[in-house]
Formats: sequence, C-alpha cells, structure tokens
Amino acid sequence: MITVEDAKQIIAKRIKLLDKETVPLQESRGRYLAEDIAASFPMPRFDNSAMDGFAVRAGDTIGSTKDNPVSLKLIGGIAAGEPGNLKVGKGECAQCMTGASVPDGADAVVMVEDTNGYDNGDTVKIFLEAKPGKHIRYKGEEIAEGAVLIRQHQEITPAELGTMATFGYGEALVYRTPRVALFATGDELVEPGQPLESGKIYNSNLFVFADLASKQGAQIMMQEIIADNRQALKLFLSRALEQCDVIISSGGVSMGRYDYVRDVLLELGVKEHFWKVSQKPGRPLFFGTNSDTMIFGLPGNPVSCFIGFMEWVWPVLNMIEGGEDQQLVPAILTTSFPREKEKTRFLFGQAWLEEGRLVCKPSIKVGSHMLSSSLDANCIIQSVPGDRHLAAGEPVRIRILPWKTIT
Ligand code: AMP
Ligand code: MG
Repeated sequence: MITVEDAKQIIAKRIKLLDKETVPLQESRGRYLAEDIAASFPMPRFDNSAMDGFAVRAGDTIGSTKDNPVSLKLIGGIAAGEPGNLKVGKGECAQCMTGASVPDGADAVVMVEDTNGYDNGDTVKIFLEAKPGKHIRYKGEEIAEGAVLIRQHQEITPAELGTMATFGYGEALVYRTPRVALFATGDELVEPGQPLESGKIYNSNLFVFADLASKQGAQIMMQEIIADNRQALKLFLSRALEQCDVIISSGGVSMGRYDYVRDVLLELGVKEHFWKVSQKPGRPLFFGTNSDTMIFGLPGNPVSCFIGFMEWVWPVLNMIEGGEDQQLVPAILTTSFPREKEKTRFLFGQAWLEEGRLVCKPSIKVGSHMLSSSLDANCIIQSVPGDRHLAAGEPVRIRILPWKTIT
C-alpha cells in the first residue's frame, strides 16, 4: 500500500496533454488555450471619441463659458464606423460620436451636453474650455500591438471570449476534451426508475461520475452498468481502451469474491501502477495505464466514489485538457476531525467565512456508504495521518467543490 503523496506523484508522471485542435470561438467556452493570445493591433486602434459631441481645437475654446460661449463653425460630422476624412481648422468643429475617429486637426471633444446641441445650423456654441486630449481615447493607450493578453493554458471564460473577439479571433486553438468511459460493476445494481427487488440497490455512482466528468468538460463515450462477470467486463474494457483517454470504474476492485475489474484489466495488458492507497475512504484504488489511456478503478461505496473522483480523477481530467493543477486551500476547523493513524482522511464538509477567515467543519456522517453527507457539503476536508484527532482551531486543507459557493 502506498501513501497518497506517492500515488499522486506516480499519476503526475503519467499526465500527458491531449492534442490541440482549432474550434470556432463561439464553441471554445470552458476550453483551455493551447497558445498565447497576442493583440493583433493596438487598442484603441485609432484615436477616437469617448463621448457624443463635437471635436474641437482646445485652443479655440479658451475662456469659453455658458454665459460667454465661443461659437465654432460646424464643418460636418463623423459617426462610429465611418472613415474620418474631415479636417478641423482654426475656429471650426465637427460632430463626433462615441467610438468615431477624431478628425485631423482636433485635439479634444466637447460633450454635446456642454454645447447648444446638434441642430443649430452651421455654428455651435461651446459652453466650457476644453482641455487638450479631453474625451479622446488615444491609439494604443490600453494595449500595444503584439502584447500578450492571454497565456496558454488559460481557461476560456467570458473575459477571454470578449478579449479574443475584440482582436478579431474567430477561432481558438485549444486542447481536445478528454474522451471518457464510465462503468459501474455489480449484480446488485438497478437503474433508478426501475422496480427494486430484494437485495438490489440503485446505481447512484454513475450519475455522480457522469455529472463530474461533464462538469470537467469530458466527452462521455461509454457509460454502462456491467454485471460481475469477466466476459462482460472484458468486452466493455477492450472497447474502452481503444476509444478513450480515461476509464473510470466504480466497484469491483476490492477483495470481494466477485471483484474482477483488476484481473480483467491486467489480462487486457493494462500496466498497474498501484492498487490500494493509504486513504480513507477508498483504500482499494486502482491506477493503471495502457498506452495513453489512464484507468482509475474506484471502490463502489458511494462516498469513496464521489470523493475518489474529486481527489484523483477530477484534477487529471483538468490537466490533460490543458488546465493547471488545482491547489487545496487552508482552513481552520471549528469542530474536531477524526484523523486516522496511518491513512489520509477525506470527509465531505462545510466551509464558510468567519471574521474574514476560512473555517470548516466535517460532516457528522462519516461512513463511506453515507452519500447524504455530500448534500450540505461545499468542500472536501483532508487531513494527513496522525496519532490523535484534530481539534477545533487546528488547520486543515480543503478542496472547495467548484460548483458550490463559500459565504
Ligand atoms: P464494491 O466496491 O463492488 O465492493 O462495492 C462496495 C459497495 O458499494 C457495495 O455496497 C455496493 O453495493 C456499492 N455500490 C457499488 N456500485 C454502486 C453504484 N454504482 N451505486 C451505488 N452503490 C454502489
Ligand atoms: Mg461489487
């Protein structure tokens, strides 16, 4: 049996980024960039007006007030989107709308509110003294041409979509999403919605797996309940090994008489890197590879499956599709935590902010079969092994469940 840290290192060595592919920008949300994004032109691209109003020569407005306005000759106007080919001379002005290029000769914009308005024939009264540069957004003042705006491996969120669109990127070079196979083993499993005969239970693990895999952007290629039967397992697994980047199973990797998953994987040539990790829940964790396919065999208890997916599979899916390793965050316990002597202990828990500090408490339901412990949880609390339980006030590390909020 190996420690959690050693097991993580073994997996880290096997992480291989998926291929790159080009997708239309509108389909790139949630994906990870496979290249840096640079500004294809300076921003703003040309000197333009920040306000609706009149482009003027600041020098012409010196001393102007509402009671004693300067009158300027209106020579025309430019709306946003029009090419600017006007030239404002001494004593002249031009209508200039927000986003329109500032005409040659002008060095300030006066807001329409500070004039007598648009419809006064060919003169405009200016009610204040314009400072040079006022209400002009200068070429390149925000971003220089060629500046790197977004780094490779950044997730594409609204900010990246907006920025890439601003610079005309119609496509994004991203990493492919992982193809995954999910399966649950057990003759006892029945799909929800079906009648439940004595001795049977409903399959819940595949619902948890499927939602977690989709949340992490994976493509679910195969998803099945498989009976505790070598032949059925072999059939499923040989197909999954051909088609998928990651295979995730629930059940059938413990010491039970009918736990065939590991045997069948080995028979199919999968290389075992470890089986059994000193952790609770989920000790009989299997990890193997077959060329570039990674295989995670999680024991069937629902809490072992949920926490096991979050701790072992979730970060791997994220990294092979180009994301960064997610860090755990420190928090202070508000109640005691049942630490294990030799195993890393994981429990669902609640975390919240108290006087500006992140605090947490574990669920009082600690059994690996008690999936209801996940209901109020917004984090998974973990503790390294130790001789005594942790007390309130002691620090632990937590993984915040990314779809939950901390308040
Ligand atoms: P196993 O790892 O196969 O020994 O299963 C351990 C426990 O988890 C048993 O009580 C199983 O009935 C239960 N279990 C296995 N698979 C599932 C599943 N898909 N959904 C819910 N419980 C399961
Ligand atoms: Mg079983």
